Amino acid sequence: MGTIYVVMGVSGVGKTTIGKAIAKQLQVPFYDADDFHPQKNKDKMASGVALQDEDRWPWLDAIVAQYPQWKTKGAVLACSALKEKYRKRLEVDQLHVKTIYLSASCTLVKERLAARTDHFFNPDLLQSQFDALEAPRAGIICDATMPKEALVKHIMNTIQQQTLSQLGLIGLGVMGKSLSRNFANHDITLSLYNRHLADVEENVAMQFVRSYPELQHSKGFDDIEAFVNSLALPRKIFLMVNSGPAVDAVIASLEPYLSKGDIIMDGGNSHYLDTERRVETLQEKGIHFMGVGVSGGEEGALKGPSIMPSGTAEAYKQVGIFLETIAARDAQNNACCARVGAGGSGHFIKMIHNGIEYAEMQLIAEVYDILHYHCMVSLEDIAHTFDTWNAGEENSYLLEISSKILRKTENGQPLIDVILDKAQQKGTGSWSTTAALQIGTPFDTIAQAVLARIISSEKVQRVKGQQRYKIKREEIKHLEIATIKSAYQTARIINHAIGFETLRKASIHYKWELHLSEIARIWTNGCIIRSKLMQQLIGVLDGFDDSILFHESVIPQITKGQSALKQVVPKAVGAGAAIPVFSASLSYFNAMIQGDSSASMIQAQRDFFGAHTYERKDREGSFHTVWDA
Ligand code: NDP
Repeated sequence: MGTIYVVMGVSGVGKTTIGKAIAKQLQVPFYDADDFHPQKNKDKMASGVALQDEDRWPWLDAIVAQYPQWKTKGAVLACSALKEKYRKRLEVDQLHVKTIYLSASCTLVKERLAARTDHFFNPDLLQSQFDALEAPRAGIICDATMPKEALVKHIMNTIQQQTLSQLGLIGLGVMGKSLSRNFANHDITLSLYNRHLADVEENVAMQFVRSYPELQHSKGFDDIEAFVNSLALPRKIFLMVNSGPAVDAVIASLEPYLSKGDIIMDGGNSHYLDTERRVETLQEKGIHFMGVGVSGGEEGALKGPSIMPSGTAEAYKQVGIFLETIAARDAQNNACCARVGAGGSGHFIKMIHNGIEYAEMQLIAEVYDILHYHCMVSLEDIAHTFDTWNAGEENSYLLEISSKILRKTENGQPLIDVILDKAQQKGTGSWSTTAALQIGTPFDTIAQAVLARIISSEKVQRVKGQQRYKIKREEIKHLEIATIKSAYQTARIINHAIGFETLRKASIHYKWELHLSEIARIWTNGCIIRSKLMQQLIGVLDGFDDSILFHESVIPQITKGQSALKQVVPKAVGAGAAIPVFSASLSYFNAMIQGDSSASMIQAQRDFFGAHTYERKDREGSFHTVWDA
């Protein structure tokens, strides 16, 4: 895939001469933009009438229409494009169109043109061009007064620098491979590297590059120094390695070859405090470090993930275009990617995303448990119920896959029946619980989902418990599916409220200035917790600085739904079901609407045994009582 260089500047500055010289060196065709004017414009110009904006749009569109053909090899186009808005039209494909601006003063161009005998020179026309000129601030900006050879050399050097890979990626595991293919499918030039382990892992990147046609323009490296040197400045390096010591090891191996201003993006599930530390350490060396949350799994990484990058605005300006290009699209076709905040906030947000995901998964598992084991509904009927819910307000990716899971068979048997009921975890759920507790925010549903996975892993003990107690699960009678649906949706809203409250409080605690509505928008596609509810939350959270539960549009929903929760939870628990997230959502809600709570008893107990003192409702101050007196 080639680049289209637009050589621009006023008449007489040398666009054609320089453009042709560059095209020759690059061995690509040269085009003169004037050749693409519609006949109407040509007639106007021939009769000496100046072109207006409305004349220029069809002309610029005719040029842009050539791009698909020009891009295959690359091209050089000489075009006046004096105004910013004309260049914007020409730069529709920002990754493949680059501007070369030949800059010179009006006096100098006048002198040059006056000296030329082959060119009719109209000083008024030239002055009007300088009046219209809005000099570009980006692209290759050159001094057109330089001698021609020096000018061409300068431009070629700059272009060569730009033909280095736009992006580097380290770590060709499940996610790294998919992300690389996604970047390459969007014509982003890549250098790829995977660690070299003698006799174990050699030339991994080279072999990978050869395996997929879309990687034909990507370069694979087995040597870290050569990898770094293949990248355009400032270097942009995406890490997709396991979190923890691997990230530090990769950073240490890169450091000797990096320059000030280079950017490292960590796309793995790193702990946000590790990211904060790395940001600080690398900042002292002039290197930008960004925590980039990525969600969507292997398929999302390939087809369009949801991306949550944090770091300095300066660094995001350099890398945002690449991340936004490969991200999923929201309902308005905007990228599900935006700079979410400073420091480690990207990884914090990804961690809370995973926490919400844990509880969403557990809630579906609990609905399955109630329906299958207590309401005696067949797997096919549960799948059908999930399909029906998925067609309405409860729509979500997780519900969609759960219905498919229930229908999956192996040798005629439902696969779910033979999957060992021990849920695994990689740690982000418990990290999020710890982080929430550290900043003092309730995390009921998510913490319970983490604990449910831990209890599930105690299979041996659970089987022992079943044998010792012999208490059977009971059938639940008189529980409508519609009631379970309402309870499910209510618990989901409460779970999302808990997740977003944690983000809101962390934002204050860490001074991240998170924009919660924008985070909800990023989570509407590409990620595991995409859902109709998430789309509704964009509006709920917009300009609302409080818990989702207190938003005027949510209060009627919860008021109605909590009565369903109050039917489902006691009935299911009473029948022997373990439904920790349903139960936690109801307890959290009950607690959050109690102006008076039982915590006065806790305070009294603390003061009784530890003289910790207590505050009073009727008086200001701190009090201690001699309780036994
Ligand atoms: P994999 O295990 O498939 O790949 C890990 C990569 O890291 C491999 O390329 C591996 O190299 C490399 N690596 C491991 N240790 C080192 C080291 N010490 N030095 C250099 N390279 C090392 O993991 P995933 O691709 O699934 O995940 C990568 C990151 O993305 C993790 O942090 C994960 O939590 C996160 N993530 C994963 C998602 C998923 O759905 N899988 C979703 C979102 C984020 P080698 O091949 O040589 O072992």
